[in-house]
Amino acid sequence: MWPQQTSDFEAHLAAFACRTAHSLGRQIAEPSSHARTEFQRDRDRIIHSTAFRRLEYKTQVFVNHEGDLFRTRLTHSLEVAQIARAIARNLRINEDLVEAISLAHDLGHTPFGHAGQDALNACMQEFGGFEHNLQSLRVVDGLEQHYAQFDGLNLMYETREGILKHCSNANAAELGALGQRFLQHKQPSLEAQVTNIADEIAYNNHDVDDGLRSGLLNERQLTQVELYARFQKEVAATWPGLGGRQAIYETLRRIINALIVDLIQASQEAIQEAQPKSVEDVRNCPPLIRFSEPVRAQARELKQFLHANLYRHFQVNRMTSKARRVVNELFAAFLAEPGLLPPNYQAARGAPAALQARQIADYIAGMTDRYAMREHRRLFSIDEI
Ligand code: MG
Repeated sequence: MWPQQTSDFEAHLAAFACRTAHSLGRQIAEPSSHARTEFQRDRDRIIHSTAFRRLEYKTQVFVNHEGDLFRTRLTHSLEVAQIARAIARNLRINEDLVEAISLAHDLGHTPFGHAGQDALNACMQEFGGFEHNLQSLRVVDGLEQHYAQFDGLNLMYETREGILKHCSNANAAELGALGQRFLQHKQPSLEAQVTNIADEIAYNNHDVDDGLRSGLLNERQLTQVELYARFQKEVAATWPGLGGRQAIYETLRRIINALIVDLIQASQEAIQEAQPKSVEDVRNCPPLIRFSEPVRAQARELKQFLHANLYRHFQVNRMTSKARRVVNELFAAFLAEPGLLPPNYQAARGAPAALQARQIADYIAGMTDRYAMREHRRLFSIDEI
């Protein structure tokens, strides 16, 4: 007899948390595990996927070969999971589910970050476009091939719901139950809402750190940002004379903590007021995971600062431009000559153009930064084989 029921692992959760017992389940029924809840199994399937390992070599803001210490999609996803779990435990919602969603949320990202995504979306305009959230879902729903019984990871409904953070109405209409919330303007679970904001907390702070490390940002500029200025002063008062990376990190850890604490408090108040009794109630409420108004404005200011000063820095623009060119040229070459594709991406040859284009997009989206650069050389440089 197994010593414990896996439902005990979720016994402490609030009524509005996602639970295995009340889940909408997997697309293909599977026997349950004796040792793990279904959301733990989802997290574990994600960690063992090839798409997850590729995140190590995919750009967050800085292209992977620009430096070993910058965030990659992998370390970004781990930071999101850390922040999301801290919030989830405080709100008594499902920590395993937020971890699964966090680790999977960027699986569909192209090489070269947003530059790659925008380029691929432009290439796919005639063929239904390209959205990285939807691509993350395509990865876990079919592109990963590990299991004998099904393609994809056959994840729980609530994990898939959390991965599909945004979706156009046109695509939502084709997604069945999972797309309905976008058409009906309903919310996803609190676990999905938490992960969404944890993503923002993570990238706003690590992009400041990476921006400073790269020299594209400096601390003087950051004193324009209320959140940064406040905690920089606090660090200077607590640790007079402290400078360099330690002062930066002491500032950033305080910002992350302040954002998390505010989010927990404001969300607890919103939950208290709305009184959801189930996940279904949560889906019908307005978003309940939120910052207080003043902190929301401060977080927005930080985000706007990064947009103006880091993401559009001329050195970032140069890399963005090169990345766009690589993706455009790869796509155009494969579309014009499908015989250049590796055999396992040729299944759609002779199929309608949209299907062929989608298979090319799947191939390019799955590439790491360095694989895309190598593939580009193989196609365009006569010296490369
Ligand atoms: Mg992210």
